[in-house]
Amino acid sequence: MTANNLYLSNTSIKTFLTCKRKFKYKYIDRINPNKDITNKYLSFGNSIHLALADFNKLTIDKYRTLDNLHNLLRRNWIRDGYESREEEKTFGLWGLDMLTNYYNNPKDDGSKNYIIEDMIFNNEHDYIICGKLDKVYKNSDGKTEIIDYKTSKNISPIDDLQLPLYLMLANYKLGYYPEVVSLYYLPENKKISKEVDDSFIKESITKILDLCDAIFNENDFTPTPNAYCKSYCEHYDICDASKSEEALIVNALTDIKNINTKEVLF
Ligand code: SF4
Repeated sequence: MTANNLYLSNTSIKTFLTCKRKFKYKYIDRINPNKDITNKYLSFGNSIHLALADFNKLTIDKYRTLDNLHNLLRRNWIRDGYESREEEKTFGLWGLDMLTNYYNNPKDDGSKNYIIEDMIFNNEHDYIICGKLDKVYKNSDGKTEIIDYKTSKNISPIDDLQLPLYLMLANYKLGYYPEVVSLYYLPENKKISKEVDDSFIKESITKILDLCDAIFNENDFTPTPNAYCKSYCEHYDICDASKSEEALIVNALTDIKNINTKEVLF
């Protein structure tokens, strides 16, 4: 692989960890059969993100009204992927409701914004580490905090991959590491935060860079087929391994070996 030709993000790294062959198809060979398929959840999430990004850029109080926040959603609304006008309207009303709850009780009030909706490309390594930061700001405790807005209903903690990536991207842009990283689940108006210290930052970033180096140096891109390939992988048609019964069984045996022995009954 040539230097500075490999883009590593939260999504692409997770793909590598799930199936190296899929990673190769998608991020090295750049085969993307589904690129024109639209998805209403993606459209909805992007619409909310764009509305909040615009709203976060308004600094004069008289413009920061609920009406304006609602209108920013209407202005940024992405219409792709909905099956009918009724369905689109249902999602639109849900979005307005979500933003109303946010506006009435925001969990990300602060004194200064440093980064708003910025796609960052860190090219200090053999590969490019990239990702979008929704918001980095000085919070009410005076700490620098990264916010990642979520529109999914399932609340889960910040994972070990996302967290150091956010920290690295923020550091690349600001020149220092933020002290707090938060996921802001808008449907519940709930924020999950993690404070980070120097030793955590050092350790987690070392781990992620080791993983990125391993991806950069990978040559085999062994496939890991499973019973769900046909339904969930857009590369199923071009992937021979997914049609090999033997490969499926060998992979299932590898999975069994990786299961924690405390989790199995016998
Ligand atoms: S079909 Fe299965 S094995 Fe093949 S690339 Fe996709 S996930 Fe991997």
